Amino acid sequence: MRLTDPILIAALAELAVERREGASIGALTSLEIGGVSDLLIVHDSRHLPELLRRLSGCGIAHRFLGGGSNVLVMDGELPWIMIKLAGRTPDVTIEGQSVLVEATADLGRTVTFCAKNDLGGMEGLIGVPGSVGGALRMNAGAYGTQIGTFVREVEVYRAASQQIETLRGEQISFAYRHTSFAPDDIMLRVRLELPRKPYADVVRDIRVSNEKRRASQPMNQKSAGCIFKNPPGGSAGRMIDGLGLKGFGVGDARVSDRHANFFVNAGQATAREMLALIDSVRERVHTAHGVSLEEEVIVWST
Ligand SMILES: Cc1cc2nc3c(=O)[nH]c(=O)nc-3n(C[C@H](O)[C@H](O)[C@H](O)COP(=O)(O)OP(=O)(O)OC[C@H]3O[C@@H](n4cnc5c(N)ncnc54)[C@H](O)[C@@H]3O)c2cc1C
Repeated sequence: MRLTDPILIAALAELAVERREGASIGALTSLEIGGVSDLLIVHDSRHLPELLRRLSGCGIAHRFLGGGSNVLVMDGELPWIMIKLAGRTPDVTIEGQSVLVEATADLGRTVTFCAKNDLGGMEGLIGVPGSVGGALRMNAGAYGTQIGTFVREVEVYRAASQQIETLRGEQISFAYRHTSFAPDDIMLRVRLELPRKPYADVVRDIRVSNEKRRASQPMNQKSAGCIFKNPPGGSAGRMIDGLGLKGFGVGDARVSDRHANFFVNAGQATAREMLALIDSVRERVHTAHGVSLEEEVIVWST
């Protein structure tokens, strides 16, 4: 979608919003799949409520993008405007065990910055690409660690009140790849509380997580991580692998040879191909196991 309303376009400068016309949104995602739309980069999050009010006043739909490592974006001209927050520096500030992090901060860099300050706990999250905001939305987790465990406070734009609010950790529920935030809430910054841990010990555990990832995941291919959530008590990857589907594909969309729950863009895959692959694998798993796998990847198809 392109912005055409001259009054709205003129207002963007007042709101410190940069507009990139006809941006390739696929290029901003780790799958490198997806079409084009205007991209609005918000340089001052205090103006976010006003921007969203104006867009909705003009009947313009939007989607919010973090690091783009967990989204599958439809092909062609997108029916919404894409919004992203500009990074701020410093993006991580530490006071004792309390860590204030901008939602735009890179998750991996945050984990290593905390390590240098003798704070641990999040070593399992090393290697999860994307932003801290995206990790909060997804309650990103790996190797027994999930980010929600460490959340003490989140500053969030709440779609319901159209205001920026601060929520305490106990007001938010975090479950497996799920949080109680509304789908169109936007996280702005978070206060984490991390356990003290000597730098050398954190580094040792980061290495262990990195090794596990390198041994099992297609690190150098275009993917969005796991396509499906694990069903209760089971493993989506093992079910798919058990059906001999590693390497199975639709066009350039393929089930990874390395990890059956990672679907990769092996060339110029389209969203249509990736969605067809997702449906086909889900159907085969359902036929074989009676389990309907739920997507972990966020699909933006309409
Ligand atoms: C190689 C690889 C390995 C991965 N391994 C893991 C893993 O081990 N564990 C795991 O949990 N995930 C994993 N992932 C998936 C992904 O990295 C995580 O889900 C990550 O936390 C998404 O963050 P992002 O900033 O890229 O979010 P995006 O992909 O940009 O967005 C994902 C969702 O979050 C929303 N969002 C983003 N930022 C915000 C914000 N500030 N406020 C509100 N909503 C927001 C978006 O609107 C969208 O709905 C992996 C992905 C890849 C490519």
